[in-house]
Amino acid sequence: MTADSCLLCRGAAADDELERIEVWQDAHWRLTVSLSSEVAGFAYLEPKRHIRYLHELDGAEAATFGPAIARCMAALKDATGAELVYVYVFGDGIPHLHVHLAPHRAGDALNDQMIRGEIVEEKLPNGMTRFFSTDFPALPRRDLEDAADRVRSLLIGG
Ligand SMILES: [Zn+2]
Repeated sequence: MTADSCLLCRGAAADDELERIEVWQDAHWRLTVSLSSEVAGFAYLEPKRHIRYLHELDGAEAATFGPAIARCMAALKDATGAELVYVYVFGDGIPHLHVHLAPHRAGDALNDQMIRGEIVEEKLPNGMTRFFSTDFPALPRRDLEDAADRVRSLLIGG
């Protein structure tokens, strides 16, 4: 998909179709709030420039992402009385970066599950709760250590 055919590159012109309304923008980012959502204030933070994925963020957008998302999340939290704001980034739908910002309160429609299948909670001795899926058990520890080693090598060498 090129910027010419990208729905999100159309900016405000696509907001009606996407059932959302713009609430903020600056030189590089725009924030829209959904008008079709299970929770109030469900929002999308997007770069104005056609940047496909978070891992491809560069230039001015890379330099301003932190301040922009923090400002937006604080406003969403305060405006909705949410306890916190969940952040989701997927990328396998529309290939133009859109960060989902979801104000969350206990008991609302949102959950914190990231894996499919039957989810089981396990209380750990340190008080934390581990969630796991009985359909997708954890991979062997050696495989996970190998993945960590590859990431470390890419980031710091070795
Ligand atoms: Zn785009």
